[in-house]
Amino acid sequence: MNTVIPIVPLAVPTAIEGDGMGCHSGGEAMLAAAKSAGKSEVLEQYAKDYPRDAKAGPHDQPQSMCPAFGSLRVGLRMRRTATILSGSACCVYGLTFTSHFYGAKRSVGYVPFNSESLVTGKLFEDIRDAVHKQADPALYDAIVIINLCVPTASGVPLQILPKAINGVRIIGIDVPGFGVPTHAEAKDVLAGAMLRYARTEAEHGPVARPRQQAALPTVAVIGELFPGDPPGLSALLAPMGLTVAPQLPSREWRDLYAALDCQVAAAVHPFYTASVREFRAAGRPVVGSGPVGVDGTAAWLDAVGAAANVSADAIDAAKARALPAIRAALEANPIKARITVSGYEGSELLVARLLIEAGAEVPYVGTACPRTEWSDADREWLQARGTHIQYRASLEQDLAAMRDVRPDLAVGTTPLVQAAKELGIPALYFTNMVSARPLFGAAGAGSMAAIVAAQVGGANRFGRMVEFFEGVGTGTAAGYGSLGKPVEPAGARDRYRRAREAKAKAVEAMGT
Ligand code: SF4
Repeated sequence: MNTVIPIVPLAVPTAIEGDGMGCHSGGEAMLAAAKSAGKSEVLEQYAKDYPRDAKAGPHDQPQSMCPAFGSLRVGLRMRRTATILSGSACCVYGLTFTSHFYGAKRSVGYVPFNSESLVTGKLFEDIRDAVHKQADPALYDAIVIINLCVPTASGVPLQILPKAINGVRIIGIDVPGFGVPTHAEAKDVLAGAMLRYARTEAEHGPVARPRQQAALPTVAVIGELFPGDPPGLSALLAPMGLTVAPQLPSREWRDLYAALDCQVAAAVHPFYTASVREFRAAGRPVVGSGPVGVDGTAAWLDAVGAAANVSADAIDAAKARALPAIRAALEANPIKARITVSGYEGSELLVARLLIEAGAEVPYVGTACPRTEWSDADREWLQARGTHIQYRASLEQDLAAMRDVRPDLAVGTTPLVQAAKELGIPALYFTNMVSARPLFGAAGAGSMAAIVAAQVGGANRFGRMVEFFEGVGTGTAAGYGSLGKPVEPAGARDRYRRAREAKAKAVEAMGT
């Protein structure tokens, strides 16, 4: 059922109430509130795991979607896992809308609150009751409860929920927009919390076997992948006597044990800091980058083989099998275009590597994710080829790079694609078009060329479109209304600016 279910309906679930608190307001006030409400430890860990740009900037608070969507998505994609949100009704509406837009097909639990239940601590009791009601071992392996911004800022103590009820694991996490910069990193918050729980279980006794026991030692791949990529990775690893473990984020609880039982963890998406910490705590080596193009695949097979103590001959055999096919695919699908790449998926550097190996010029890569050691090899490879890499890239930086470079194709987020089209620059939406294709091995090498060629080939069409719309106005004066072309009233901006300034002065004079 695709609806939000109020698990513990209160009489009047009003909007909160510490009003002005949310991603539309400054994050600093909420951060300070959360710290004084007992959330210092978790927020300090987030600050280490998901470092912000030293100069702050737009990722000081979410610039695009609510970060909690990342955790919600990870929970909703797991079998026998219930996911419950605790937050303002408007946030929950947006999050459930987005999750169903992306095809969740699962119910999202919601524990609403009002200012009284928040201030008196009744909200926590409501959450605890909701969790007890949901904890049916016939239906669930785990229940995930996510504190959004306001409950986190108010210190709702999910950490003191029971660790398990009737054998159902209870995972409480705080995912505030003022503590977790992107929805990508919020995936890691939940994946890391689940791994920690599963690792502790495995350390204390026998745990469930995976549905399909791997016949070979495994490599646990960290990051959401296109469904065709894991079989491709298995084929790459086979000559080294390795195969892939169930992927992370997992599809069911027992997969967490199987992933932890790997020989090597591969952080192909480089922002899963908490998850990597768990693999390391389990004594598993972790390698970065991914098998993209000829150079990337060779380096990745070397790194994985070395970490798994595979013989040099077996690593050479794996390379001898994989590289000629990748080289042939790249040569058969050359890309002759200048391309900028921007995104928030975490695979931006890998995509840029692949494009360059196929012949493209990529002067700029912007990623909303932070710089980590697991993308260092990609950064060095790209920088050696003249690519500027912007970590924690803001939309403004991505737009400025696009305007500066005037690429034949801009790969990016929705607002970037929109801006590119207004300029007559062909553009591709990263999430729908690039992430929905194989990236690794020979399949990845061949997959990008067709969409790039189709878009670049349409450049004239974009030019005609810009010409066609010439003169209809832009921004607030765009399009035609019922009374004709919108015209900005003369002096309106000035009048509003003066009114705003006068109001601010009056508030200052009164004090707050
Ligand atoms: S939970 Fe998400 S949508 Fe709500 S205030 Fe926080 S960042 Fe914004």
